[in-house]
This record gives sequence, structure tokens and C-alpha cells, in this order.
Amino acid sequence: MTETRRNYVNGEWVESETGETIDVENPADPSVTVARYQQSNESDAADAVDAAASAQDEWANTPGPERGRILREAGTLLAQRKEELTDMLVAEEGKARPEAAGEVQRAIDIFHYFSTKAADLGGTVKGASGRGTNLYTRKEPVGVAALITPWNYPIAIPAWKLAPALAAGNTVVLKPASLAPGVALELAKALDEAGLPDGVLNVVTGPGSEVGSEFIGNDAVDAVSFTGSGQVGEMVYDQATDAGKRAQTELGGKNPTVVASSADPAEAAEIVASGGFGTTGQSCTACSRAIVHEDVKDEFVAELADRAESIDIGPGNEHEMGPQVSAGERDSTLEYIEVAENEGATLVAGGGVPEGDEVEEGHFVEPTVFTDVDPDMRIAQEEVFGPVVAVIEVSDFEEGIEVANGVEYGLSASVVTDDHTEANRFLEEAEAGVVKVNEKTTGLELHVPFGGFKRSSSETWREQGDAGLEFYTIEKTVYDN
Ligand code: NAD
Repeated sequence: MTETRRNYVNGEWVESETGETIDVENPADPSVTVARYQQSNESDAADAVDAAASAQDEWANTPGPERGRILREAGTLLAQRKEELTDMLVAEEGKARPEAAGEVQRAIDIFHYFSTKAADLGGTVKGASGRGTNLYTRKEPVGVAALITPWNYPIAIPAWKLAPALAAGNTVVLKPASLAPGVALELAKALDEAGLPDGVLNVVTGPGSEVGSEFIGNDAVDAVSFTGSGQVGEMVYDQATDAGKRAQTELGGKNPTVVASSADPAEAAEIVASGGFGTTGQSCTACSRAIVHEDVKDEFVAELADRAESIDIGPGNEHEMGPQVSAGERDSTLEYIEVAENEGATLVAGGGVPEGDEVEEGHFVEPTVFTDVDPDMRIAQEEVFGPVVAVIEVSDFEEGIEVANGVEYGLSASVVTDDHTEANRFLEEAEAGVVKVNEKTTGLELHVPFGGFKRSSSETWREQGDAGLEFYTIEKTVYDN
């Protein structure tokens, strides 16, 4: 029997009024239904917002240390369930097990990290303003925050929005992506058991066009934090800001690694393979362009192709690289591969679906490398969101930076070089929110700000660390005479 899971609204596990459910399949074997979730509608979403609005004042006035205690306790409960959560994540999203376990650990760490921030969240004492007048600032929650999240990090992304929002005294409505909602509901379960008051967090599953839209349009919502595709995110941003709400959007990437003439081709190939094929290429920071100096290009391409071909593909519990999350995502990657071939790029590794008993049914794609890619080809400009790396040859370092910056995105960028001056120049000139030297484009510690340039983010706000808390607080200047 497949379990049917409920929404979490006002401290209770409730069914949608639609009476309909969404099936989530295992992407490594779609004949297996992992779980069923509520196919909620606008009215379910509105109930969740009402609950969050009613709980707001009391939660805002709950002492910071108590808010922190609940987050800490929930983090500890998640840690006790790490194996179970990892199983769920592999089954719904398809990630390789070590990647899934790492993501669950990140969610636990985020809860623990923000549990300490809740207690410290104060304003700044500015001293006296004339005799008898104390002058200081105080930080207050923004109010009701709507969080809308994607499937590719289905526990870490909800956690990195939810923990600072709750720490700062906001109440929350959360809509996880329909392809992998299970682990987000587990966050609610842990918080509920840790003693979170009713209504402070509400999680509703269902279509973005209904549940997400209602959250954004509802007058009682004060802030919207969205992570997902540019296509949806830009619309969400306009809708939310037009309605006078605070909004933050974290969107796509077309992340480059520039390989300089001084780079060791094998080391550079390792960095690019790890950034490009990790999490099946389904990271917003995945490396999808290797921009390589002509002196090292041939050796680099051979090394990268070797690595692509040696990756062990199969169901995430036993293999190094899992499937794509859905048939739609796999087909979109295969279409991009076809487009690249038609545009004249040369396929040097992968390019299709793997064969074998274990991968026959799932949404698997081979790690793929193209060379002879021109910077203006679609494969070099558009986010593919699968395990595909396009190699672009350049004849000097300046051209490398120019090509790296020549896209509409700017999330993460890295350079592989032995030359300190080149490295510094790259750090200064790369148009990306995260810039790295001799490292892969993916991966970021939880205490540093994360966000992009250009169409990768709304640039006003950052997520994670102290920067992440700012979105969920509003600062008031106080003269107390
Ligand atoms: P998506 O845009 O399809 O969906 C994201 C969320 O928005 C889902 O919960 C979806 O149901 C909801 N949604 C859809 N239509 C909506 C609407 N009209 N109103 C409100 N909500 C709506 O994205 P996805 O396919 O789930 O995720 C993949 C994308 O996310 C990629 O483009 C990737 O680069 C991006 N991403 C960005 C970051 C980052 O931090 N920059 C991190 C991870 C993923």
C-alpha cells in the first residue's frame, strides 16, 4: 500500500478539500509509486495563510532563545532520522546516496546553525541622542513568509529558507515542488514534535499555479522567497513586488569553469567533472561550460571524456550517479544534446541513455561532453539542467573571462590556474555571486551568503548565513526619551 501523506496546517495533518492526490514515482524505476501527496488548491492554500497570520503575533513575541530551542530540538530529531530521510530523498529525487545523505546533513546543520541565531537576533545600541534619550535599533520579523521551493534540493532549500524565517519570528507557508515533497513534510513533522506552536509553519503540496499563486496573491503574506526556474521566478517576483511584498528569487545558472594555460589538464578535468556531473548535473551551480585555453584543450578534453565515461550510473543507493528526476527533465536534456549536434558541436562522450538491466526503466542520461562549442550556441547559453558539459576553446585569458561573462546568468564561476594574478583578475571580473579559484562551481558552506548576478537572482537579497536572516527581518530605529 502506498502511503498517502497530508498537508500540515495549523498544527494538524489535513487532507485537501479537492479529495485528489499526486503520485510521486521513483525516478530510477517509475513503476514504483513512492508516496501520494495532496493535490491542494487555492482554498487549501488560503487556509494555510490564515493559520500563519493568526499565529504571527504570538510567535514574533516568543523569546528568541525559545524559538532557537525549538529549531535545535527539531534539528536533533532530523539527525536521529537521517537514514530514513536519506532513503526518502533517494527514492523521490533519485540522488546518489552519499549526495542525499550530505543534503540531509546540511538541513540538520542549518537548523542547528539558525537555532543559535534566534537567540542573538537583536538590534544595535547606538547610544544616547541627547540627554535622556536612548537610541537603538531593533529587528522585527517581516510577518508571514511564503516559501516556494524546487525539487533538486528538496530538503536543503526548504531548510535554508525556513530556519532563518522561524528564527527571526516570522510564520511560514511552504509549498514544496510536487516531484519530491516528502522530505519537506518531514521538516514540519520534526518541528511539530519539537513543540512549534500551531500555525507557525504550514506546508501545502499541490500545483504552483494554484497553491503558489494563492500564497503570492494573498494580502496576508508579507514576503515571498522563491527558488526555481527563471521562467516561473521572474513572474513570481513581478507578481509579489507589484503587490508590495518583499520578494527574493534564486533562479538558474550557466556556470563556467575557466581553464587557464597554466592549469594541469587532469586537475582541471576533475574539477569540471565533479561540478558538471555531480547530482546528475541538476544543481543550479552545476558547471555546464568549460572555457579552456587552446594550449591545454586537447589534453583536458581527453581527461574529461575519460571521467565522463567511467562514471557508474544506476539507482542512487548503489551507484555513483542517479537518474534525472523525471521523464520530462531527461527528455529536455536529450533534446539539448540533439540541438548541440545540429548546431555543429562535436560529441566526445555520452550523448544518450545508458543500457543495462538496472537502468532500463529509469530516467537515466549518460554524462555528456561536447567540444567545438561556440559561445553563442544554445548549448553554451541556456541552462540544460542535466549532466552535459560544453567545452569552449579560447586563445587567451581575457577571452576566457569575456566568454564566461557572456551569458544572461551569473550564479557561480570558477577558474583553474597556477597564476596568482590571473586568479585575482578572475575574482574581480567574473560576473557571478560565487567565484572560486581551483575549485568546482558547486558546493557552498552554510554560513556564507549565496545568490547570483544578472538573471540568476533578484540581487537585493542573499540567502544563507547572516545575509539569509536579513530577508526575514525589518529594522526599526528607536528614540526612547
Ligand atoms: P520550477 O520553477 O518549475 O518550480 C519551482 C517551484 O515553483 C515549484 O514548487 C513549483 O511548483 C512552483 N511554481 C510553479 N509555477 C508557479 C506559479 N505560477 N506560481 C508560484 N509557484 C509556482 O523549478 P524546478 O524545476 O522545481 O527547479 C529547477 C530550477 O531551479 C532550475 O532552473 C535551477 O537552476 C533552479 N534552482 C536555483 C537555485 C538557486 O539557489 N539559484 C537552487 C536550486 C534550483
